[in-house]
Amino acid sequence: MPTTPIDTTVVPEYFGRFPVKLHSEEPKIARGSAAALKKFQCFAKDSRSHSVGPYGDAYAICYPDGDVERVQLSAEIIEALWMYDDVIEALPHDVASKEHGMVKQLLGHTHTNGKGLAEGAMTNVFRDVGARMTVLDPKGAPYVLGTLKQYLTEYDGSSRTFDTLEEYLSFRTLNVGFRIMASFMQWTLNVYLTSDETELCSAFYTAAGRVMAITNDYFSWRMEKREATDRVRNAIPVVMKQYAMSESDATLFVKGVLVDAEQKTARLGKALKGSSENIRRYVEGMEYLLGGSGFWSATCPRYNDVPSPATM
Ligand SMILES: [Mg+2]
Repeated sequence: MPTTPIDTTVVPEYFGRFPVKLHSEEPKIARGSAAALKKFQCFAKDSRSHSVGPYGDAYAICYPDGDVERVQLSAEIIEALWMYDDVIEALPHDVASKEHGMVKQLLGHTHTNGKGLAEGAMTNVFRDVGARMTVLDPKGAPYVLGTLKQYLTEYDGSSRTFDTLEEYLSFRTLNVGFRIMASFMQWTLNVYLTSDETELCSAFYTAAGRVMAITNDYFSWRMEKREATDRVRNAIPVVMKQYAMSESDATLFVKGVLVDAEQKTARLGKALKGSSENIRRYVEGMEYLLGGSGFWSATCPRYNDVPSPATM
C-alpha cells in the first residue's frame, strides 16, 4: 500500500533535510503505541505518550515502509521502553540497575512463561516481548532483542557530567536509544548487513546516531529544563558551560551542530547508495528514520506544548 509523503516545507518548525512520510496503516500502528501507554498508566499514572503527534504516530512516521505487523509490535515495545525509562530515571542508580537486570532476563524468554515474577511489577510489561517477536520473525528477532539487552547493559543513568560537547556526544549517541531505533528499522524492513557491509556503513551509522541525539536534545530541551532531576541529558547545558554562552546562544549553536551533522550524514549516505540494493534500502530506511524522528520532535505536544516562561 502506498505511503503518504508529508510536505515538510509547510511546517515552519521542521528545518531538517531528510524526507518524511507516513505509513499507510498508521491507525493500526498507533494502536500498538496506545497499548503500551495503557499498560504503563497502571504503574505511573502521569505517563505521557512518546508517540502522539499532529501528523500521526511517531513509529508510523519513523518506519513508513516497514511490514505493518512488525511496525505495530515495534511501536508497542519501543513506546513501553521509553516510558519505562521515564520511571527508571527517577530511581536511584543501583535500584535502576536491578530493574534493568530483570528486564534483560525477561527479554531472553522466547516463549511465554513468566513464572516467578511478582504480579503487577513494571518489568512484567516486557514479559512476552521476546516470544511475540520470535513468532513474527524467528530469524531476525534475536538481532533486535540483542540490541535491546545491550541498551539496558550500557545505559548509564548516573549523574556524570561532561566538559565538552565532543565528550558528551560520544556518550549520548549510545544513550539516546539510537541503536534501538535503528535496529527496529532494520527489522521492520527486513534488511540486515553482512559484516563487510556493516564496516562499509560504519561512518554513516555513527553520523546518523549523532543526528538523532542532537535532534532529541534540541527539541526536548524546553521540556527537560523544567524537570526536577539531576540527570538531564542534553547538549545545550554542555555548550553553555563549555563556551560560557547564554541559553539562547547555546540553543542556536546546537541547531547549527545539528544542521552540520545532517549534512555529513546525507553526504555519507549518498556515497553509499550505489554500493548494493541492500545498502540502498538500509540507507533510505535510516534517512526516513532521521526525517521522521526530527519531524515528530518538531511537532509533537510532548516537546512543544510547554508553556514558555513568559506565560507561566
Ligand atoms: Mg531529550
